[in-house]
Amino acid sequence: MDIIERKICWRVTRYCTLHCMHCLAGHGTKLIKDLSEDDQLLSVKKIIKCNVSRITWTGGEPTLCATLPQLLKICHDNNIKSIITTHGLALREKFYSALNKELDKLRFSFDGLEKKHNLIRGGQYFEKTLDTMKRSFSLGFTIEANINVMQNNIKEIPDLICKLESIGIKKIVLLNLMDRESAHDNNLERPQKEEYVLLNKKLVELKYLYPNLEIQLNNYWDENDYYIVLESNGEIFLCSENTEDKSFGFITENAGIENLNLALINQTLSHRKNIN
Ligand code: SF4
Repeated sequence: MDIIERKICWRVTRYCTLHCMHCLAGHGTKLIKDLSEDDQLLSVKKIIKCNVSRITWTGGEPTLCATLPQLLKICHDNNIKSIITTHGLALREKFYSALNKELDKLRFSFDGLEKKHNLIRGGQYFEKTLDTMKRSFSLGFTIEANINVMQNNIKEIPDLICKLESIGIKKIVLLNLMDRESAHDNNLERPQKEEYVLLNKKLVELKYLYPNLEIQLNNYWDENDYYIVLESNGEIFLCSENTEDKSFGFITENAGIENLNLALINQTLSHRKNIN
């Protein structure tokens, strides 16, 4: 039987120092309030009770959340794996020392090669992020990358993959650009199906060239990947590419454990429906 991992994405803060062209609107102004430290600590205990095995920490920029090192430690102690998605510009020594090399992975986000990445991210960040990746790699961490795939960058993705592979990347996840107002307003659009077909052909060649590199491209038009997002204010959502986000209430409620468990069960059922 197909075992579905009990995993969630925790958008642990809405705060970020950048203003990328495709970001969630209002992230800098904190339109959605982050949970207090106490509520974050309470929430992680409820997550443990729900037997979650993996948390992907997102934001905003998760490494700007002051409580994250403490939350990571609690997760390690309870054998929960963590993937930290980051722009890589705020990783300080204190943060590295809070990480666990066995359980934690750092996943850096890219929007293209240097010129495009810097344009979309609003500053000269490409090389700085690469430097942090090299440092993380030299410290012995497993490093991965997310690439947002859009019409504006799809042709340069194979070259970007080669560049990232040369640094020591173990896995690259290609994400369809999120369907957001900010992206539309800035003329960033999702690729057409035919463009993905061409990209896929290139990926086959790259997989042959780099057998140790895992490249994950979701096939968005045939499958619907369901995932759970714990919003920075504690609301639990079941999300997918092709359906409306469904709320399961807040983790901070008295029924927080039941709420999260119900979302996890629905994630499994939706996945089964998908593969049957
Ligand atoms: S780095 Fe991430 S969170 Fe920060 S502005 Fe860019 S997309 Fe938004």
